Amino acid sequence: MKEDYDIIIIGGGAMGLATAAELANTDKRVLVLEQFGFFNNKGSSAGLSRQFRVQYAQEYMAQLAVDAIPYWDKLQEKSEETLIDKVGSLWFGDPKISSQEGGIQAAMDVMDELSIPYTKLSASEIEKQFPFKDLPKDYNGFFQKDGGIINLKATLQALFNIANAASNIDLREFDKVIDIFSEQDGIIEVVTAQASFSTEKLVITPGAYVNDVLKHFGVSVNVDIWEMSSAYYKKTEDIKLPTWFVFQEPQNTSLFYGFPEEDWANPGYIRVAPDIPDRVIKDPSGRTGIPSEKSLQLNSDWVKDHMVGLNDEPEFTSTCLITLSNDNKELLLDTLPEWVHNNENIFVYTGGWAAKFIPLLGKILADLAVEGETPYDLTPFKIQWTNDNLTKKNEFSLLDRRIQINKDR
Ligand SMILES: Cc1cc2nc3c(=O)[nH]c(=O)nc-3n(C[C@H](O)[C@H](O)[C@H](O)COP(=O)(O)OP(=O)(O)OC[C@H]3O[C@@H](n4cnc5c(N)ncnc54)[C@H](O)[C@@H]3O)c2cc1C
Repeated sequence: MKEDYDIIIIGGGAMGLATAAELANTDKRVLVLEQFGFFNNKGSSAGLSRQFRVQYAQEYMAQLAVDAIPYWDKLQEKSEETLIDKVGSLWFGDPKISSQEGGIQAAMDVMDELSIPYTKLSASEIEKQFPFKDLPKDYNGFFQKDGGIINLKATLQALFNIANAASNIDLREFDKVIDIFSEQDGIIEVVTAQASFSTEKLVITPGAYVNDVLKHFGVSVNVDIWEMSSAYYKKTEDIKLPTWFVFQEPQNTSLFYGFPEEDWANPGYIRVAPDIPDRVIKDPSGRTGIPSEKSLQLNSDWVKDHMVGLNDEPEFTSTCLITLSNDNKELLLDTLPEWVHNNENIFVYTGGWAAKFIPLLGKILADLAVEGETPYDLTPFKIQWTNDNLTKKNEFSLLDRRIQINKDR
């Protein structure tokens, strides 16, 4: 038995739900498929908080973050909880360093270019205004007021509520996509552990599981997956923090970021996290789910040496998976390559520090699925496809795959 949809979304995390929420305004029949439960902590949307910031080392990224603001405002109207607490964003450290997150000077140059306001700060000014201590004298940085802390769970809930209330959208959890057949007739069949569905348009938002889904088309993306740790520290004084990021050498052991206290994120505790991978894996099955002792020790050492008003013993630790492009792309968003049937109707997004773009990426993916186009320039996010896996895929006949599906079920 096959059920027909206009659009199927694979992956019910932040981006899948954001796409569905946008499609609630259309007359399209939409299905969202999630292999685990909605709001799960097994992918990239694990945990409670994320940083929103407009500063980037690339102009197009900073502009995209600015462009995301009205979409957040619109989503905010649908939620009683504050989705972004605009406490501002503080970047500081060694001004020569540029990391995965950009670099201080490059970000200031871009903000100048885009007339984004910010305040430059020396190490002593940072120590005077914020609860940091004993910073090297040559450190400097800036404070940007539009940054803030994203309430990730409230954001997911707001998106879920919109999609769940829409009569044109079906949300289906605990049902993993185990095969996909995209045939010459324009119909795409999506096979899950429990059923089969057909659609004309497919939006693929599986986060770190991207290559596990793309293998059904015989293609893959060149990404690494970082398993990263995070920790909350008990507050011992009445300190006020913005969201912050410190840039230091050596980068593989001394990049840290943190958040203010929030009543929705372990009140009485403050999150500080290392921006370094515990381990780099190729497949989510390689994750341990256990924070690395080394990462947590480095993190606690930073808290002890440079923060005021926090106990330096970590509590409430967790891990999260982030997918990062090996082709130097901030985000990956594209149609499938032309050698896949119906490629122009199959859209894939994965990768990057993208929580700040959630409602905007939902809008872009929804527009692509409905209209086939978006006013946003997606050129920087185009995927460099390889067809290396094509031969592998062809080793299995369609019949073999049907037999395998029955075994998997
Ligand atoms: C430690 C950490 C810190 C971060 N900090 C920031 C930050 O400060 N600022 C920022 O902007 N971003 C940040 N990010 C990035 C941000 O969290 C992610 O960009 C965002 O959560 C990605 O959402 P997603 O929907 O792409 O992925 P996910 O939320 O992982 O959703 C993908 C979903 O697809 C499902 N799925 C996969 N395969 C299948 C299948 N075969 N069938 C059905 N379902 C499937 C998965 O189960 C999952 O639920 C951070 C990420 C991490 C890990």
